[in-house]
Amino acid sequence: MKIPFVDLNAQYQNIKPEIDAAIQSVLDNTSFILGATVNSFEQAFAKFCGTKHVIGVNSGTDALTLVLNAMGIGAGDEVITVPNTFIATTEAITRNGAIPVFVDIDSKTFNIDVTKIETAITPKTKAILPVHLYGQMADMKKISEIAKKHNLRVLEDACQAHGAKDNDVSPGVLSDAACYSFYPGKNLGAYGDAGCVATNSDELAEEIRKLRNHGRDEKHIHAEEGFNSRMDALQAAILLEKLKHLNDWIEKRRENVRFYNKLLDETLATPLEKDGKKHVYHLYVIRTRKRDLLQKLLKESDISCGIHYPLPLHLQPAYKYMNLKKGDFPETEKAADEILSLPIYPELEKEKIKYVCEKIKSVLNFE
Ligand SMILES: *Cc1c(COP(=O)(O)O)cnc(C)c1O
Repeated sequence: MKIPFVDLNAQYQNIKPEIDAAIQSVLDNTSFILGATVNSFEQAFAKFCGTKHVIGVNSGTDALTLVLNAMGIGAGDEVITVPNTFIATTEAITRNGAIPVFVDIDSKTFNIDVTKIETAITPKTKAILPVHLYGQMADMKKISEIAKKHNLRVLEDACQAHGAKDNDVSPGVLSDAACYSFYPGKNLGAYGDAGCVATNSDELAEEIRKLRNHGRDEKHIHAEEGFNSRMDALQAAILLEKLKHLNDWIEKRRENVRFYNKLLDETLATPLEKDGKKHVYHLYVIRTRKRDLLQKLLKESDISCGIHYPLPLHLQPAYKYMNLKKGDFPETEKAADEILSLPIYPELEKEKIKYVCEKIKSVLNFE
């Protein structure tokens, strides 16, 4: 039995008529960049997030970059984040001339260890950038308390957390802004690159709207230089259709998680959903010391898995100049050696989950 890591074709086949019609309507009206379709998606997603504004941009990476830029964070400023994330998180910091300062993670949730944030704060610290890794939100109440006390901005990387909740609150509500990616494989994915910013701040929203479109106020008046980071209407039309299914897809993921957990709980460490949180399981990440062996056997059995992420950022060649070393963030490094992401897409059938779990047990119980 061949089991892919995600199955975007299965999802497309289930909603093909609506998607095809949405694409056709954009082709018919030929308004391809920003415009009414992007506005409609922004409004619909703002309602979903419970924030006043959503600004559609080119990608999750650009969303993060533009928010930090709009906050005026630049040369010499420090931004606190985690080393176990995708490099886009830190690219957004360094592309603005600022400096990423890493804080280790909590071993149970893989999110920033809030008890270690304050020791990383210096007079240069301007912001905290928590990442809601795998689809579970970091402790936003604690983070916003620390930020208030030290007068720091907070930007949430919610690129894996569409629909996630922390005590019924969505990303972007307890902070200055949250950024989303609509990369095709995300829980809400476009058919190309796209992303957005969700915020309750009128000032940030206005500035990001300008920045995404060359700093333009009116057609030929540029108060400042900006970026070319506009969402295109084809992506917005597709996202508008897919948004209608997002809650249902999240429930299917959660159902698959319950099934996995029931079969695997005795064999290895399954993901922890903390009290008060709604985990949306962009990734279903298990943990075992026999990870390399397990990954090898699953691959031989045609089961696709992933590691998110195998080499922490502080050990990446791109950040050699930071002079960080192995041992600096022990929980992150230990996790990187033990984690494995199993297939968890909404269309994944129970019989396939059963098959994956049987294979896992056959390695771990008899080695
Ligand atoms: C996907 C992702 C991004 C980047 O999003 P893009 O749309 O690919 O630019 C940033 N941060 C995290 C945690 C992500 O998973």
